[in-house]
Amino acid sequence: MSRLIRAVIDAGALRHNVEVIRARAPGARVMAVVKANAYGHGLVQTALALHSADAFAVARLEEGVRLREQGVRAPIVLLEGIFSPEQLREARAQRLELVVHDALQVELLAAAGEPHREPLWIKIDTGMNRLGFRPEAFRAAYERLRALQPASSEIRLMTHLAAADDPVGHMTGEQLERFAAATRGIAGERSIANSAGIFGAVAVAGQWVRPGLALYGASPLPQRTAAELGLRPVMRLETSVIVVRQVPRGETVGYGATWRAERDTRVAIVAVGYGDGLPRSLPSGTPVCVAGRRVPLVGRVSMDMIAVDVSTLESVSVGTPVMLWGEGLPVEEVAGWAGTIPYELLCSVSERVPLEIAGSAAA
Ligand SMILES: *Cc1c(COP(=O)(O)O)cnc(C)c1O
Repeated sequence: MSRLIRAVIDAGALRHNVEVIRARAPGARVMAVVKANAYGHGLVQTALALHSADAFAVARLEEGVRLREQGVRAPIVLLEGIFSPEQLREARAQRLELVVHDALQVELLAAAGEPHREPLWIKIDTGMNRLGFRPEAFRAAYERLRALQPASSEIRLMTHLAAADDPVGHMTGEQLERFAAATRGIAGERSIANSAGIFGAVAVAGQWVRPGLALYGASPLPQRTAAELGLRPVMRLETSVIVVRQVPRGETVGYGATWRAERDTRVAIVAVGYGDGLPRSLPSGTPVCVAGRRVPLVGRVSMDMIAVDVSTLESVSVGTPVMLWGEGLPVEEVAGWAGTIPYELLCSVSERVPLEIAGSAAA
């Protein structure tokens, strides 16, 4: 047992998922979304493993700068754009493509005095009400941007879907209609689909897709598993048993004494806790894989440890491997136990958890 907790990142699975996404969106280019430390998978190593991506997307300027410093030369799109002349200068120096979603950003570009050399992505708010020009304000913003840029420079069009994971609602259809109406007659490449848009029930067109979650092998659709979509989990969060103990019937385990043994129980104490990013909200009964078998969490998650009932397992001892999520125990399922979504679990893996890349030679 050289190490306790670690997150093993399967580069082969990452590339497999890109191919599954390409098959779902034939002809579309893939803008791999690597914001938030690549959803906890490690910004730089993920981007380097994803050399087949056509572009990368990040939320913040620092993330784009970091990719450039580490030698990533592919196009990089700054999803939230820039908010000051200094940020614009840095984005220019790093050759970042910018999303332009607000009048202030158009003014910053105008004030810069020279056109932006990389493509600009003008974002239309078709119903999310987060970022983007409202459809009625979009034309004027587009014309102003067009006037600032040489005719040869690219202005691309994008929007973001609010409910593409909903198999029955009307939201996606309405957003697509608003986008089509707002952009009618305007040339330029288009990008609409996130992971749920790529795999969801409503066909979403566009020259570019912007997968995040699906790249990492988690299902973006509540009613479909990743395996059903052909996706393979990229992260395996693993650790080890550090102690095995007998808990006599009637005694409790952990803080708050929330779990009581109904019979004499063999309990393994495992080195992972909320200090590593495992949600404290996981209840007793949450599945944990010990030596490849699912057993229930018992008692509260503490900062550095959890307890699991291993009474049903033959041989568990110090050093027995434990998996919190990965192949066979989807992070989506664990997220469900925590009352949250896989995005949050993946992003929450904390800095003290070493990320180990595996399978980088596999294509
Ligand atoms: C985060 C993000 C994505 C990726 O979303 P997933 O649901 O992870 O596929 C795509 N587009 C934009 C604008 C985003 O902010």
